[in-house]
Amino acid sequence: MTAYEYETHEYDVVVVGAGGAGLRATLGMAEQGLRTACVTKVFPTRSHTVAAQGGIAASLSNMGPDNWQWHMYDTVKGSDWLGDTDAMEYLAREAPKAVYELEHYGVPFSRTEEGKIYQRPFGGHTTEFGEGPPVQRTCAAADRTGHAILHTLYGQSLKNNAEFFIEYFALDLLMDDDGKCQGVVCWKLDDGTIHVFKAKMTVLATGGYGRAYFSATSAHTCTGDGGGMVARQGLPLQDMEFVQFHPTGIYGSGCLITEGARGEGGYLTNSEGERFMERYAPHYKDLAPRDYVSRCMTIEIREGRGVGPNKDHIHLHLNHLPPEQLALRLPGISESAKIFAGVDLNKEPIPVLPTVHYNMGGIPTNYWGEVLNPTATDPDATVSGLMAVGEAGCASVHGANRLGSNSLIDLVVFGRAAAIRAGTVVDRGAPSPVLNQASLDAALARFDRFRHADGSTPTADLRLQMQKTMQEDAAVFRTDATLAEGVRKMTEIAAKLDDIKVTDRSLVWNTDLMETLELANLMPNALATIHGAHARTESRGAHAHEDHPTRDDKEWRKHTLAVVTGNKVKLDYRPVHLDPLTTEAEGGIALARIAPAERKF
Ligand SMILES: Cc1cc2nc3c(=O)[nH]c(=O)nc-3n(C[C@H](O)[C@H](O)[C@H](O)COP(=O)(O)OP(=O)(O)OC[C@H]3O[C@@H](n4cnc5c(N)ncnc54)[C@H](O)[C@@H]3O)c2cc1C
Repeated sequence: MTAYEYETHEYDVVVVGAGGAGLRATLGMAEQGLRTACVTKVFPTRSHTVAAQGGIAASLSNMGPDNWQWHMYDTVKGSDWLGDTDAMEYLAREAPKAVYELEHYGVPFSRTEEGKIYQRPFGGHTTEFGEGPPVQRTCAAADRTGHAILHTLYGQSLKNNAEFFIEYFALDLLMDDDGKCQGVVCWKLDDGTIHVFKAKMTVLATGGYGRAYFSATSAHTCTGDGGGMVARQGLPLQDMEFVQFHPTGIYGSGCLITEGARGEGGYLTNSEGERFMERYAPHYKDLAPRDYVSRCMTIEIREGRGVGPNKDHIHLHLNHLPPEQLALRLPGISESAKIFAGVDLNKEPIPVLPTVHYNMGGIPTNYWGEVLNPTATDPDATVSGLMAVGEAGCASVHGANRLGSNSLIDLVVFGRAAAIRAGTVVDRGAPSPVLNQASLDAALARFDRFRHADGSTPTADLRLQMQKTMQEDAAVFRTDATLAEGVRKMTEIAAKLDDIKVTDRSLVWNTDLMETLELANLMPNALATIHGAHARTESRGAHAHEDHPTRDDKEWRKHTLAVVTGNKVKLDYRPVHLDPLTTEAEGGIALARIAPAERKF
């Protein structure tokens, strides 16, 4: 093979990614004295988490009665009964602790009059197991919550001596012959050198793959690199067909207007000026969960009640709210509305459209973040030495649909859980693993192939083909015909990776090569999404199948597993965890409370 020289680094733990999940894991590892490296392709505080606006859910009860059982119930219902019950309990129970930790680390939360953390209403979050009024559960730092969290966690990680390797692009996992992870190989973007990170535990915290779609609220860096790396090791991706469309992306740019806007009293109207959500969801109204609101908006537009010259979008009103409230609680989106829609939200409504926002699916894990590789006899078998957290992972707490503000809490609860687990399973005294040279050679050979790729399809062209196909064929509403077409097209498109053309052969700041590697990572994520969606002949959460409009628990209350090899996808399934961590007698939620039911709003 082509000889690349490389430098070797040895750590107890290597975390790939410095978003909210990666930083919370890094901090937790470093606090326990584990020698921890965090590698990231962008500067930590530029990770997509920085864009999170609305807030982070935890039942602190600062604004009125609340408890973790209500939060858990809402999460189970939000997931459309596809989430793993143990993981959802862990999330809801640990959430208050994780938020108070953030507060003590220094996150500058907005405050109530008495000085407590301010909390706002968010879609799908209620009281009394869905029967009471909406709850104010979403803790916020104005509309810049992710920004505040990221800066705080980065500072704390540095304080605890975590070591950062910034603008290092992780290429592939290094695995031994027994399937144990040994670390990761990276390409340093600014000088072209190759670095091997050997570690007893590798944590993937690489974020989502929103950029598999044409219009997404996520950053251009959200390219599912962790999913790509895992797929290349023959490991499965889980529940990838569940892609969340956020109801309020700004029409045209896709830039997000937080659900916090509706939490603060904003509402949607159609071309007749009607507050149509009152008709679809008399109880939850504009704060129904995202999958539901996105579908209602799409129906309004389809039935000819969209706004604008082409009747192809919807209006979001905030102009009835006091300017002081907008300035205090939503300063960031006031700016976004001005820049991206040319709208003064004190005076006019914002033009909005459902836009790809979040990936419920990802690398399957248990609630400790340990990656699963289910076998015929053990659906919960784990991969030694490998964890995944944050949007890259699938624990699964969001099931078929995530509630707003439940992702930021997922990042910190499971970033923290991964650190707690690593503290017990990583043997600090043990020698570092002997590197499996074959695994490294294969990764570098692949890198070299892309570097010298001289086919006929430019990366940007192929990426656009993929994005357009996913946008059209795996959309808010899906049919047998669109999904079959999507599978056919994506199979062809993925094959064209063999014919890719890279023009820049250098190793220093080669963005052409980096974007090609990112496209090669997006591809297995996109393939798993369209295949999983095609196979799932029911409607559940974000997967709205017009030819199979009802949920089918008997056949389909199970997780999809997709193993992607080249442009081929092999599907399998694993059971949903139905048991909570604690019984009713131990203070847990009553099983009858979370028995599957029709989702009504
Ligand atoms: C606009 C927007 C607003 C949102 N608002 C909210 C909200 O208010 N509340 C909420 O709960 N959720 C919100 N979400 C969702 C939530 O913010 C994301 O799900 C979450 O931030 C993802 O965090 P993460 O740590 O998993 O990944 P990210 O923050 O995306 O970070 C990924 C990290 O991985 C690194 N990385 C990736 N690939 C590689 C590679 N190959 N090599 C090295 N490093 C790599 C990157 O450098 C980066 O550091 C929002 C999402 C968006 C897009």
